[in-house]
Order: sequence, then C-alpha cells, then structure tokens
Amino acid sequence: MSADTSGFPIKPAPPAPAPVPASVATSSATREQLRALIENVPASLACFDVKTLRFVYSNSRFARLMGQDQAALIGKNFVEAAGEEIANTAMPFVRMMLEQRQSIKFEYHLPRNDHNGFWFDVHLVPDIGTNGEFSLCHVLMSNITSHREAIREAREAVERLRKFMAASTEGIVFHEDGKIVDVNPPLLRMLGYTYDEVVGQHPLKFMAADAQAEAQAAMAVSRESAYDSVLIHKNGSRIPVQFTPRNLQWDGKTIRMSIVRDMTERMADAARIHFLAMHDALTGLANRTQLNERLELLLDGAAKTRTPLAVLFIDIDHFKRINDSLGHAAGDELLVTFAERLKAECGDEALLSRLGGDEFVVVHKHGRSHDAFAAFGERLLNALARPLTIEGRRMNVTASIGVAQFPDDGRSVMALLKNADAAMYLAKSQGRAMLRFFDPSLARAADRALTIEAQLGEAIRNGEFELFYQPQVSEPDGQLIGVEALIRWRHPELGLIGPTQFIHVAEGLQLIAPIGQWVLDEALGQIKKWGAAGWREPRVAVNLSSVQFRAANFVDSVLDALKRHDLVGANLELELTERMLMHEGDDTAATLAALTAAGIGLAIDDFGTGYSSLSHLRTLPIDRLKIDQSFVRELTDSHDCFAITEATIRLASSLGMVTIAEGVETEAQRTILRRMHVHATQGFLIARPMSAADFMVWLQTAVFKN
Ligand code: C2E
Ligand code: MG
Ligand code: MG
Repeated sequence: MSADTSGFPIKPAPPAPAPVPASVATSSATREQLRALIENVPASLACFDVKTLRFVYSNSRFARLMGQDQAALIGKNFVEAAGEEIANTAMPFVRMMLEQRQSIKFEYHLPRNDHNGFWFDVHLVPDIGTNGEFSLCHVLMSNITSHREAIREAREAVERLRKFMAASTEGIVFHEDGKIVDVNPPLLRMLGYTYDEVVGQHPLKFMAADAQAEAQAAMAVSRESAYDSVLIHKNGSRIPVQFTPRNLQWDGKTIRMSIVRDMTERMADAARIHFLAMHDALTGLANRTQLNERLELLLDGAAKTRTPLAVLFIDIDHFKRINDSLGHAAGDELLVTFAERLKAECGDEALLSRLGGDEFVVVHKHGRSHDAFAAFGERLLNALARPLTIEGRRMNVTASIGVAQFPDDGRSVMALLKNADAAMYLAKSQGRAMLRFFDPSLARAADRALTIEAQLGEAIRNGEFELFYQPQVSEPDGQLIGVEALIRWRHPELGLIGPTQFIHVAEGLQLIAPIGQWVLDEALGQIKKWGAAGWREPRVAVNLSSVQFRAANFVDSVLDALKRHDLVGANLELELTERMLMHEGDDTAATLAALTAAGIGLAIDDFGTGYSSLSHLRTLPIDRLKIDQSFVRELTDSHDCFAITEATIRLASSLGMVTIAEGVETEAQRTILRRMHVHATQGFLIARPMSAADFMVWLQTAVFKN
C-alpha cells in the first residue's frame, strides 16, 4: 500500500490525479477499490461541494482529525465540521481556490494542550471536469509534524553552528573536496584576508610550505588528531597554529572542519616560562638549573675532545655586611653591577651564571692551560674590584674566586662545583680578594675548618674536650715545678684536634668563655685527683684567652673555682700573653692585683713574640716569663736568637722574674739554656703533653714523689 501512496500528491503542482468520489464511481467493484484506497492512504481526505461548502465525503482519518463521526460529517459545513477556528483559517484559502480554480496548498498548525501540536500540509484540489464543470473540491491533509521538526532542528543546528563560529575566539574553517566552504571571522583576522578571498580557495594555499606535507597527509586519511602547523599571514609572516580537525556528515557529504588555534602567544608564554625557569630573575644570567644542564653538555664535549675546562666559583667578599648595612636594594644593585661586569669580561668564551645569593659561577670553555685560566680569573677579579657607586655611595668591593679544572679536579658537574667552592673558601680563608686553584689537601683543611666551626658548640655538651699535661722542670736539677694544662678536642670523626685549630674559632663564635671555664674546672679537679692519689698537689698553669681575661666577672669566676675544688691560689698559674697586657688601664692592673692577692701565679706566655718591654712588665705583678719556643728552636743556629734569649734571661732574673724556656727538644738546647741560667724548661725533651692517666705513669717513673 505504501508503494501506492508514495506518489500521492502533497505538492500543489502539477495537480495530482484526484481521488474519485464514490458518487462518480461507475461499477461497484471499482467503488470498493476506491473506498479501500481512500481509507488507507496515510492522509486525511475529504471532499466538499463548492457551492454549498458542505462535505460530501471523508475518510475516517479526516473525520477523526475533526473529532467527528465519519458518517455524521457528511452534509456539514466547515464551521460545523471543524469548528470556527479551523474554518476561519481555511476559508481564505478556499476562496482563493474557488477564484483561481487551482490547487491551493497551505500549512496549518493544529494546537494541542499536551505537546507542540501537529502541523499539516493542507491541499485544496478543485475537481474540474473535462467540460469545465466545477462542483467539488478535494481536501487532502498530511501530517508533516515530524518533517517540520526535522527542518527546525536542522535550522537550529545551523544557527547554533553559526553562532558558535562567530563567538569562537579560535579560528574555524570548513572545507570540502579541497575547497574552503566557510571560515569564521577570527580565522580571517588571523590570516589578514577577507571572507571572499578565502572561501573557494584550497586550504593548503594559506599554509607555510614546510607545513603542507603534514596537513596534506592528515587530510588524505581524514585524521582527527590535533597537530601543530604554520599558516602564512597575508603580509607573509608565519603564524604558529594548532589544528584540531573533525570530519562531519553534512547533507550526505563528508566535510572537514578544523579548529585553528593561534599559538603565537602560547609559544611566547612557553618561551617566557622556559626563560624564567632557566634564568636568574635579578640579573638575567643563567641560573643553577641552566648551569647544570649546560655544564653537563660542555663536560661531555670536553671529554670527547680532551679539552680542559675551568669552573670558577665567585663569591663577593663581605656581601652580607653590605646587605645588612645598606639594605637589600643596595645589595641587589651591587649584584646587578657585578653581573654586568662579569658579562662584559666573559663574552663568548665563558658560560656565566648566578647560583643565588652572592655566588656566581663562570665556566671557561676555551682556556688551554692552568696559566690561561689563572689569567682569565685575575681579569675577572680586577674587573670586579673596580670602585663602584651604589646608591650614590662610592665603594670598593672585592670578590674571591676558586677554580676547579676538568678533568684533573673532577669529571662531574657536582664534583667540579664542589671543588671550585672549596677553592673559593680557601681564597677567603687566606685573606679574600684573591684567586685560588683547587688543591685537595688544602681543600681538606678548609673542609675540616668548616666542620670544626659547625660542631664546636656541641663539643662541651658532648664531653669531647680533654686536658693534656706537660711538666715543667727546674734547671739544672730537673725537679717538677709545675704542669701546663693544654686542651685537646677528641672529635668522633676527626680524632684528636689541637688547640691551634679551634681556639681562635671559639673566640670568634663567643664560645671561649664556657670552654675557658671548663678548662679551669677540669685542671683544678685534676690537681685534687693527683693529691688524692698521694702526689704532692702540683701547681698547674692554665692558658687564658684575652676574651676570658677581659670578662667582667673573670676574677670572681677563678676564685669561685678554687673554692669549689678546695684549693688555694698557689695551686694555680695563669698564662697571659703580651698582647693582653698591652691595653694599659686600671682594669688590667686591678685584675692582676686581685689575682696575685689570692696567691695565683701569673706568667707571660710566648714571650718575645709581642712588643712588650721588660720595663713595662716590671710594673706588673708578673712572676714568670716563658721564653717562646721560636727562640729556643734556633738557639744553636741563630746568633740573634741566642743573644735575645741570653739577654732576656739575664734581665728577667735581675727584675726578680723566673724564666721558663718552652719547646726544649734537644740536650744541646738544654745545655745552652742551663748555661744561661734559665730557671726552668718545658718541652718534648722532658716530656710531651700527656693525658692525665699518662701523666700519672710518667710521674711514677720520675723521681718527684714526696
Ligand atoms: P702554649 O701555651 O705556648 O703551649 C705550648 C705549645 O707548645 C703546646 O702546643 C705544646 O704542645 C707545644 N710544645 C711543648 N713542647 C714542645 C716542644 O718541645 N716542641 C714543640 N714543637 N712544641 C712543643 P699546643 O698544645 O698545640 O697548644 C698550642 C697553644 O694553644 C698553646 O700555646 C696555647 O696558647 C693555646 N692553648 C692550649 N690550651 C689552651 C687553653 O686551655 N685555653 C686557651 N685559651 N688556649 C690554650
Ligand atoms: Mg701556654
Ligand atoms: Mg707558649
């Protein structure tokens, strides 16, 4: 049946063969066929008399649509059959049909409460006989609701797409069979062309030559994955873009849509981010990350070509002081100035970077020898040392440089940086404003010094200090007259460390007061132990630091210690240096007076190395002079030392002071000193400084037991 209805007229022209009303039918068989046909076509059919405008027949579909019984509809006019509203809508078309005697088609919307209602195509087909007789008109109504919906949806889709294309900030292009069929304004702006200049052209026309192959390949296989490409602007400039292509079915054809994203800014952003990640923000120099990366590559290259390389570690001298006193802005200005000077010196032959703080690293790539690296480093030092003006203030700032060479001082980035840093530390420790090459043994010393500095504070708490004792014997009879207490640090990793390596560090770190107090307590405690063991309590000499000596409560702390250990002043001797006594003043005199009043002995240590005169010392309550070991060492070789030592002993004796010669190592020295009438000697010849336990053993082998 559907095959029969497919050609059923719904379009006005040409007029379709009209269904024949039952009244016109001739045979009953034909009439039955017609009825069946009329009943089963998927349309609502009716026929009305053009004079009376009353229905003469309808199929059941039409009657149902009008809400009528099929039989009852016959004889009714439009208003009676369909109600006023429909009748009013239809009448103008009916009149038009009557006037024109032609098929009229109109669309009619039948509202419904529960949904959008129905749309009908209504055809009024005049039934005009061959003789021109016109008495009937056929009404054909087909439900076109779903058709209309489809059109509406398609229209909306097109509208949506149009809006989307216009609103999109990305470029959009449609192309089909190698021709651009549509583009949006953003893409036109990106390209600099007008709509007409673009539409109809081949998409490849707007692409850079080097980007065409990939685009062509993507189009050939209708690839949908995004890819980077380059467009060419009307002015010839290249525009980096990203294409996201999609294949769309449109009106039975496949067309290709591409979203075109301008990557210019994004690439600039990426470049900016990359720059920030690789550069120091303040100076614009390469940062640590970049240095690591590039040095790695340089080392690879240098290893292949067997070329030496130098890593120069640069640190500004006293930068912290400048920063603290002038402020961070001044500090920044200084860093920028230094960066510029280094840049000017380095040019292309070196890689320059700032690690942070006041640390710069320069990698010299073209040097061939130690001397060439040294000359380059000196050039940097000189450039940095030039006077500069910071915040209107003229200043002289220097830097220290440490150099490590590839491959001798290290083969990895880490090793070279570490060793250049160690060499720089060496330059600092030797007076700053200089260049030092890495030297493994010196670096170890520098490393050791750092460890000492870092751990000294913990040493007292950890009980790592010890006192060693060195006897002093009278001359020429060799009787024990005293013991000098000498501090040692038993470091868990570094072993036994002598005082020359940490006393000055302790002074710098304000740790000397607690250490000095510990020494005094320990020494006095030891005296008591020896006494308890049955030995005559010896007089113990304790070395003082000038910081200790100048402390306000110094005398009290010494007297308290004596009291705590139940000892008297005669058990203690304090060793002062000439330097401590150079500061003339009431304080020094009063301190010395208070100590002597308590019976405490006072000795001048290392005598001869300072600039004090004996006549000055005479005015002070000093008991003993310890002749410095540098004179004793040269007694047999240097006439001057001999003369000075002899004169010192004679003069000191005449002033009522006792003389002790330090560092006596040989019998020859002792013999000379005896001849000079020295009062006492101390040195390896008699005994080395020993632990308290060893000292007890030594005492037993000696002959001083009481
Ligand atoms: P100092 O007071 O002049 O001590 C003598 C130094 O000479 C000691 O070095 C001793 O071991 C060393 N010595 C002794 N006999 C000989 C010898 O025959 N030949 C040679 N070559 N050396 C000899 P040490 O123990 O390393 O002490 C060095 C300095 O450290 C001391 O010089 C003293 O100024 C200071 N010091 C030691 N202990 C303390 C302390 O408890 N407090 C303070 N403030 N300084 C101390
Ligand atoms: Mg001493
Ligand atoms: Mg000494």
